[in-house]
Amino acid sequence: MDVELVTIGDELLLGLTIDTNSAHFARVAADAGIQVVRRTAVGDEADAIAAVVDEALARTGAVITSGGLGPTADDLTKPALAALFGRAMRFDPTIWEALCARWKARGWPGELPESNRAQAMIPEGATVLANAHGSAPGIWLEDVEGRWVAMLPGVPREFRGMVRDVVLPRLLARGAGGTVIRSRTLRTQGVAESALADVLGALAKEPLGVPLAFMPGWEGVDLRLTVRGLAPEEADLRLEAAAAALRERAGRWIYGEGDADVAALVLDALRAGGMRIAVAESCTGGMLGTRLTAIPGSSDAFVGGVIAYDNAVKVRELGVREETLDATGAVSEETAREMASGVRARFAVDVGVSITGVAGPDGGTPEKPVGTFCVAVDVRGAVRSLRTAGVGDRHEVRQRATQAALSLVRRAIT
Ligand code: AMP
Ligand code: MG
Repeated sequence: MDVELVTIGDELLLGLTIDTNSAHFARVAADAGIQVVRRTAVGDEADAIAAVVDEALARTGAVITSGGLGPTADDLTKPALAALFGRAMRFDPTIWEALCARWKARGWPGELPESNRAQAMIPEGATVLANAHGSAPGIWLEDVEGRWVAMLPGVPREFRGMVRDVVLPRLLARGAGGTVIRSRTLRTQGVAESALADVLGALAKEPLGVPLAFMPGWEGVDLRLTVRGLAPEEADLRLEAAAAALRERAGRWIYGEGDADVAALVLDALRAGGMRIAVAESCTGGMLGTRLTAIPGSSDAFVGGVIAYDNAVKVRELGVREETLDATGAVSEETAREMASGVRARFAVDVGVSITGVAGPDGGTPEKPVGTFCVAVDVRGAVRSLRTAGVGDRHEVRQRATQAALSLVRRAIT
C-alpha cells in the first residue's frame, strides 16, 4: 500500500520544529508493507493545505496529515480538507462532552474555553478517530471512490499513539499487511564511499536484485539493503543473500550490522582475549575514553588514560621523545606511536591507543591541513598506526579520529 504524508505547520517550514512524525510513521509502517512514497510540508494556510492534499490524493488516494488540529486560529486542517471534499462542518456534541470531561478531570479552573469549540467541529460524514493521548481527536475523511485522508494531531506523543492504536489497525483492515518493507544495514569503516563502490563493482547497484544505498557519515560508510512488497520470510532470505554477497567482496571493512558500535566490539574482543586498554588523547580530549566508557561493563577492560594536549604532557606523562616532536611535530604517526606505547607502559596494560590531530578551524599547514589526524595502537609491543586527512568541522574531525582509533584497535586485536 502506498501512502503520502503531509505535515502541516509554519514551524516546520521555519525550521523550528523537525518533522519527526513522518520519520516515525515511515518506520513503523514498513513492517505492514505500507510505503511512504512522498512527504510534503506545508504552512498554516487553508488554500495551501487543500492544494497539497488534493495533489497527493490524485497520486495515491491515501494521505495522512499531521498537525493543525488544535483549538486556535492557526489550526486549519479540518475546515480546509472539509472544503476540499465538499463537506460542511458540523458540531459534534460527543466530542464536546469529552473535551469538557477532560478539562474537569484535569482539575483546570473554570469551564472549557469557547475556543475549544473548534476541536468539536468535524466535517459531515467524517469518522472520528479516538485520541487516547490528548484532547484533539483525529479525523478520517473518505470520498465515494474510497480515497481517504487521515488527519492526526502534530504533537508527537499524540501522533505516535494514534498511528499505533488507530491508523495502522485501519490500514491493515483495508488490506495492508502480508508483505513488508525491510532493510538491513552493513557498517563499514576505513574505506571511502567511491573505493567501496569500485570494490563492489557490479554489486554496487543492486546486489542480487536488492537495491543498495551508500550512506557515508563520520562512523564510516553504511551499506543499506532494502526490499519491498515481499512476504517476511522471502524478504529475509533476499536480504541475507544480498548481505552475504556484499560481505564476500567488502568483508574486510565491515565491522557489524544495524546499530553496531565499534567501541562495544573492541571491549568484547578485549574481554575475550583477557586484555586491558588505556588511551592517550590529544586532539579528541577524552572522546575515546567517553566512547569506551559509554558501554556498560567497560571497567572490565578499560583502565584509564591521559589527555595529553600540551606537548609537555606528551613528554612528561607518556614518554614521547623531544626529538620525535622536534623532527616530526605533534601530529605525526611517530608521535602517535610513542603516545600509544607510552600509555601502555605507564598503565601496565596490554593495549595502548592514541590520537593526535589538527581539529581546526585553525592550526592547519600545507603538510598537515585541518582534519589531519594520526592514530596508533600498541598491542603487547606490536605497534600499528595510520594517518588520515579527515573532513568536516572541528566536531566531526574529532568524531572521525575517535572512530578511526577504535577501528584500528579492533583490527589489531581480532
Ligand atoms: P498542531 O497539531 O499543529 O497544533 O501541532 C502541535 C505541536 O506539535 C507543534 O507545536 C509542533 O511543535 C509539534 N509538531 C507539529 N508537527 C510536527 C511534526 N511533523 N513532527 C514533530 N513535531 C511536530
Ligand atoms: Mg500547528
